[in-house]
Amino acid sequence: MTLAGIAHASRHYDGLTAVDDVSFAMAEGEVRAVIGPNGAGKTTLVGMISGRVTPSSGQVTFKGEDITRLPSWSRVNLGIVYTFQVTSIYRNLTCAENVALAAQRRQRGERRIGVAVRAALNRVGLSADAERLAGILPYGHQRLLEVAMALALEPKLLILDEPTQGLAPSEIASFCNLVRGIATSASVLIIEHNLKVVLELAERITVMDQGRIIAEGSPV
Ligand code: ATP
Repeated sequence: MTLAGIAHASRHYDGLTAVDDVSFAMAEGEVRAVIGPNGAGKTTLVGMISGRVTPSSGQVTFKGEDITRLPSWSRVNLGIVYTFQVTSIYRNLTCAENVALAAQRRQRGERRIGVAVRAALNRVGLSADAERLAGILPYGHQRLLEVAMALALEPKLLILDEPTQGLAPSEIASFCNLVRGIATSASVLIIEHNLKVVLELAERITVMDQGRIIAEGSPV
């Protein structure tokens, strides 16, 4: 079954066409990578699914429902979570408080929020940092905190935009493990420049160039 679908979508910015008549379908349970050179339209394409970008024409669906005009916060309620929606971690709040901001969108009551916060921090390996201020975490850990916030939103589709950018090689390896774990309970759509990561994680790869999908398939 198609989880997220795009039908003949385009997005124009003044004279520029960022996405040009693209159709795209992602199956439930899939880990999909979108690759392509800078400016290919990858962020614009996934933005149509997260709701950050409204297509100039065409249709976006989620579980068969038309979501083309749905604002991104409503899409979060459907389970579409884009890590950039939470990129702005609050540096002066603790990690646990940051994750609680996300968790309270899903849970009612302090106790349940607390359980969700601990579970999300545990999944990304930040339990020991729960009471530390987010702003003093090393960069790689801040990115993990963003993922914890996304997980607290209980995604059905988690969209990650260049998640390994700026991570050290050892951090990339553990990030791949983390995504594999997430993929057991959610579909994952990932924009990624690191081909090793793409080949390790993706079941299918979509290649974009100049606003179009030029190839799609499974890594061999
Ligand atoms: P990168 O790998 O550099 O992030 P990308 O493949 O994600 O690139 P997009 O960010 O989708 O590409 O951009 C596609 C094209 O659309 C680029 O030429 C970009 O400059 C342009 N573009 C994207 N967003 C906007 C915007 N809000 N206003 C004007 N032009 C935009």
